[in-house]
Amino acid sequence: MSEIAERFPSIRALLVTRGEIGEGLSEGGRHHVKKTLARMGIALREGVSVTALEARRLRVEGGPDIDCDACVWAASFGVSPLARDAGFAVSPRGQVLVDATMRSVSHPEVFAVGDAAIPAESVGVPIRMGCATAMPMAACGADNLADSVQGRAPTGFRYAYLAQFVSLGRRECLAQLVHHDDSPRDLFLTGILASSLKELTFRMNLFGIRTGFYPWRLLLLAAPRLASKASSGPSQIAR
Ligand SMILES: Cc1cc2nc3c(=O)[nH]c(=O)nc-3n(C[C@H](O)[C@H](O)[C@H](O)COP(=O)(O)OP(=O)(O)OC[C@H]3O[C@@H](n4cnc5c(N)ncnc54)[C@H](O)[C@@H]3O)c2cc1C
Repeated sequence: MSEIAERFPSIRALLVTRGEIGEGLSEGGRHHVKKTLARMGIALREGVSVTALEARRLRVEGGPDIDCDACVWAASFGVSPLARDAGFAVSPRGQVLVDATMRSVSHPEVFAVGDAAIPAESVGVPIRMGCATAMPMAACGADNLADSVQGRAPTGFRYAYLAQFVSLGRRECLAQLVHHDDSPRDLFLTGILASSLKELTFRMNLFGIRTGFYPWRLLLLAAPRLASKASSGPSQIAR
């Protein structure tokens, strides 16, 4: 929304959310986000549940409905019903339940990673969908797949959070530093420093794709690791 409002300053922008803006942020971080949105002329409606989207109108629980010329829907991710329909053990959301080595707990011949999967056992921190979690899961699954083929022992998944980034247009950003379990620290960065840090994370990933060395692997060395006990079942890998 901030990107749109910044690019088209003459529009009347309204941000609607069921919860509160920046729920997972520190008080200072949330204040910064709200102050920046207000400065950009973006109005906020919090605690509003949208029940349906019609042409030029949002139906709202308890009313009043909201008229609009254009609506940008950004209400979280969904999971394909494919795994559930195929008979895999899945989470209530439909994600494949995997063991510490990223093998399906019901079909150990299948590795599942990323948004479509979730460890059945707690890794000590909540695993939310996102590229920040999808990449380490993918790396863990790929390593263990290669290890299984070559007869080496698998290693358990490890994960910890470091920061959350909220882009607030091209020139403003919030970098909320978080504890390992994703809960906010009191410390946060704003402005060019935060934007540069976010840019750096993208560049680090680009560097990883080009070189095969992902710098976040070093950051995760201190993270909690799941015991690498693999699911019982067929040890043969499907090829
Ligand atoms: C606009 C946007 C911005 C985002 N920004 C961030 C961010 O800043 N930070 C962050 O952490 N996360 C961000 N995310 C989330 C992040 O992109 C995802 O969490 C991440 O890509 C998940 O990786 P994945 O490999 O699990 O799934 P995906 O990247 O979604 O890949 C799944 C692939 O499977 C393919 N596929 C699906 N069904 C089938 C099928 N039946 N047969 C064959 N292929 C199929 C799809 O085409 C796709 O290529 C963003 C997402 C969006 C949409």
